[in-house]
Amino acid sequence: MKKKVVAFDLDGILAESEPALTWERDPPVAFYTFYQASVPNAENIELLNRLQATKKYKIVIYTARVENFREVTEAWLKKHEVRYDCLVMSKMYFDALLDDRSASTKEGLLKLLGD
Ligand SMILES: [Mg+2]
Repeated sequence: MKKKVVAFDLDGILAESEPALTWERDPPVAFYTFYQASVPNAENIELLNRLQATKKYKIVIYTARVENFREVTEAWLKKHEVRYDCLVMSKMYFDALLDDRSASTKEGLLKLLGD
């Protein structure tokens, strides 16, 4: 049976906060430092790992972080024991998303998954 794909955002979901940095003002090293020191969201990581452990889902990390930061991002995910299948970077920026396949709350995600 084909696995359902469940995607998790990184900053603001698996990590506690979005960087208050801008590409116009801040050097890449500021982003690197922020990503390296990001505080994990234990509750959301636990949910992700619980879904992954069922082997029923393909777990994708979907982030707006750019490819230059893949290494530091993968190291952070490893350090915080996030068990995922695929890391997709350079997510497009949006202020709002309306998607018939999305769940915007954890409750919505669990309902979608029949948990
Ligand atoms: Mg985010």
